[in-house]
Amino acid sequence: MTARLELAYLGFEASDTTAWDRLLTQVIGLTANGQNVDGSLAYRMDEFEQRLFVQQGPADDLCALGLAAYNRAEFDALCGRLRAAGIELQHGTPEQLRARHVDHLVLFKDPWGNPLELCLGLKISPTRFGSAVQPAGFVTGDMGMGHLIVVQPDLDAATRFYTDVIGLSISDTGAEEWGGIVLSAVFLYANPRHHSIALAGGVPAVKRIAHFQVQVPSIDDVGLAWDRTRAAGVEVTHLLGRHTEGAYSFYGRTPSGFEYEVGADGYRVDENWRQRHLTRFTLWGHHAPATGEAPAA
Ligand code: FE
Repeated sequence: MTARLELAYLGFEASDTTAWDRLLTQVIGLTANGQNVDGSLAYRMDEFEQRLFVQQGPADDLCALGLAAYNRAEFDALCGRLRAAGIELQHGTPEQLRARHVDHLVLFKDPWGNPLELCLGLKISPTRFGSAVQPAGFVTGDMGMGHLIVVQPDLDAATRFYTDVIGLSISDTGAEEWGGIVLSAVFLYANPRHHSIALAGGVPAVKRIAHFQVQVPSIDDVGLAWDRTRAAGVEVTHLLGRHTEGAYSFYGRTPSGFEYEVGADGYRVDENWRQRHLTRFTLWGHHAPATGEAPAA
């Protein structure tokens, strides 16, 4: 099954929305776009009204993984596959449509309780996007807003659900031993981005999400975000490095405990892509700062 979908937006429930606002606007370089009708805080990273929102609450975890269908046929086909798989769909209320800035919305959970949403008609802002912190902007376009890693207790079953039902395709799989545990990952795509969602197994499931990533246009933009991360005193979790799927990036800690990644480059996939099995996720770098060492400042 090959669907045409994008990662449209992410929502996080956070106990410290002030710290999140600082990270998103002053370090990563998104722009604040006011408060939604449901009280969540909206953030922009391109021409759309909202690519990320933060909702006040105790969970400190993912609260919405928003997928956009390319057209009505894709939207209806995915709803049909979800119903056939026994997944309960909740149609978005008028308030939820306004809060998500979309024309059509269904909310559902994967079999492991992850909060997914399918939308159509993500609204474009009448105001031109511009970030003084990240003037070159973000790479979205036909590839969606970035990617995220969802921690799954049963990687094989989750892979079947996300491919057979959601309709994503596997770009690569991988497994690598790290600190005595084998981390396994399945990278999934539904547009030219190498992975919009990756499923991770073998990871202690502290949070639903291991990290989310935004893509910037150049290595210099990654370096500038790196400098802003250090200047802000944000904890660096993985130093600069190059992934085996091409991305040059670093990782920092969000106020909710899971990580964020700022990257450039990364392979684009198309119908000629040949799925690989990776025995390492990083070509070089991405080392964790030494234990006890101040966060790479
Ligand atoms: Fe990543």
